[in-house]
Amino acid sequence: MSKNLDPKCKQCRREGIKLYLKGERCYTNKCAMVKRNYAPGLHGIKGRKRLSDYGLQLREKQKSKRIYNILEKQFKNYYLKANRQKGDVGENLLSLLERRLDNTIFRLGLANSRAQARQIVNHGHILVNKRKVNIPSYLVKKNDIINLSKRSLEKNYFKQTIKSIKKEKIPKWLFLDEREIKAKVVDFPKKDDADQNIDTRLIIEYYSK
Ligand code: SF4
Repeated sequence: MSKNLDPKCKQCRREGIKLYLKGERCYTNKCAMVKRNYAPGLHGIKGRKRLSDYGLQLREKQKSKRIYNILEKQFKNYYLKANRQKGDVGENLLSLLERRLDNTIFRLGLANSRAQARQIVNHGHILVNKRKVNIPSYLVKKNDIINLSKRSLEKNYFKQTIKSIKKEKIPKWLFLDEREIKAKVVDFPKKDDADQNIDTRLIIEYYSK
């Protein structure tokens, strides 16, 4: 499986905003956006250029791909799928991105970044409706029950993580039962449920050309 190997902090510096790709570190002074808030490369320090309409659309698309830790082909497929679905394309697109299993694990607070959530899924720690699912792009749907495998519940990492989950940060389309250590997808995610500001209009314009 191919993945984005670009250094994470460089990706934030390229987009000019914090994408929160490294978990805890992103909230500290060690964040590269605190120390070097300019684009990577020789000319970055001279400041950011004013972008054309196309440039703005491209940057928004790149930023969104980086937030959700997915590559171009897959991202475009989400757009095409969103376009085929009924309703608002932007809403559909964000809903598809949010429903990815790796994102769901991240939004539940079981991982401190989407990259870590992807690893958790890949390593077979997650059950959906009592069946092991190790595909990060798996799309959860309404009424799905998500929990950790028995073996994973014994791991110190998960014991500690579950204790430190901040329930108020969990989006309203998910419900976490901490006592049973299981989550339920109670609704389809809406545009406003994304944790970062994404202008889907620009992404749609980019792909509509
Ligand atoms: Fe981005 Fe996090 Fe690196 Fe800061 S620490 S630049 S938010 S990945």
